[in-house]
Amino acid sequence: MLDIQAIRKDFPILGLKVYDKPLIYFDNAATTQKPTVVVEKIRDGYYNVNANIHRGVHFLSQAATEAHEEARRKVQQFINARYSHEIIFTRGTTEAINLVASTFADAFLSSGDEVIISAMEHHSNIVPWQIQAAGKDIAVKVVPVDEKGELCMDAYRRLFSEKTKLVAVAHVSNVLGTVNPVEDIIATAHNHNVPVLIDGAQAVPHMRIDVERLDVDFYVFSAHKIYGPTGIGALYGKEEWLDKLPPYQGGGEMIASVSFEKTVFNELPFKFEAGTPDYIGSTAFAEALRYVEGIGMERIAAYEQELLRYATEKVQSLDIPVRIFGRAGHKSSVLSFLAGDIHHYDMGMLLDRLGIAVRTGHHCAQPLMQALGIEGTVRASFAFYNTKEEIDAFADGLERVIKMLTKR
Ligand code: PMP
Repeated sequence: MLDIQAIRKDFPILGLKVYDKPLIYFDNAATTQKPTVVVEKIRDGYYNVNANIHRGVHFLSQAATEAHEEARRKVQQFINARYSHEIIFTRGTTEAINLVASTFADAFLSSGDEVIISAMEHHSNIVPWQIQAAGKDIAVKVVPVDEKGELCMDAYRRLFSEKTKLVAVAHVSNVLGTVNPVEDIIATAHNHNVPVLIDGAQAVPHMRIDVERLDVDFYVFSAHKIYGPTGIGALYGKEEWLDKLPPYQGGGEMIASVSFEKTVFNELPFKFEAGTPDYIGSTAFAEALRYVEGIGMERIAAYEQELLRYATEKVQSLDIPVRIFGRAGHKSSVLSFLAGDIHHYDMGMLLDRLGIAVRTGHHCAQPLMQALGIEGTVRASFAFYNTKEEIDAFADGLERVIKMLTKR
């Protein structure tokens, strides 16, 4: 289906050796590697197109402005938003959630109101709401997670009250891989006239997203998790909501006119983009989206599912009891586990010495760890440039570590 060896050539970093061993990069949920076309786009931007955008009459400024706005249209088309001005460039998922939390709270939340999140959220989709809650006496209600790692949808439905003002939930869990039933989550909230923010950081790299079909009110994600540059991401918001929200930050670009008596804010999307935007990053972000489209999201999803199935089988057949966290029917290519009573950190350290990069710890989801009654997990997360041979080497590595750390 996919020519993985050809694809791997697009990612020079995958040829690295660490500790004299071929790098096996299984930390894709934290960040993905970048194909040459993305790196070249950044280089080309600085070499050939660099000028501050939206303000200049000169040639370069207009070229840079057009490239940035074209990138916005690419993001719009990629997630099937209706208008390009519904795409706000942010520093990433975290800033996008903070933007919505802060401005939504300013405009619509008051004492006694409630926001619903879930027990499997990343800290980025917990702390911004807690900050607003503390300042305004707002309650944050939490949808529990069952033993398979799925959201308890009955409990979700029961959380709604007259006071519920917003739902903010991850599309895909960065720890469990669970793909949440966002259509149902959104439809249920809309029945109560409550808008929904979906944290798509772990979904966008693995499946086709259609914000129009989802009818979602806000959808956020980061470029660096979908083979794009660090420091940029996108907030999609329905025009009707973005129009109603106040600006997030003040500064250049977000104004129509300024006087000491009265400042008039700019129209969308510029109202939310104070200061010089990352116009080099935006074009590289768009290039990354074109790159994955060139491979095909459906083909990426199918291949990653095959990797997940293969890795799950391998881990389960280890010569030691293994606990896998996240056994949802619908999962993305994330495998979180603990082997015997081996500490996740020891496992990660020793795998690293074999050239295998996995993540260990709480994965910025401490409340989920508390719910699972653990401190952390070992997490292997796969991208379409990974191979079954790498998974074989990973399984061998696990066997070696297990032998080293268990007394028999
Ligand atoms: N939400 C989820 C589900 C994530 O996995 C992450 C990144 N680990 C974030 C939010 C935060 O993304 P960023 O650090 O790019 O802002």
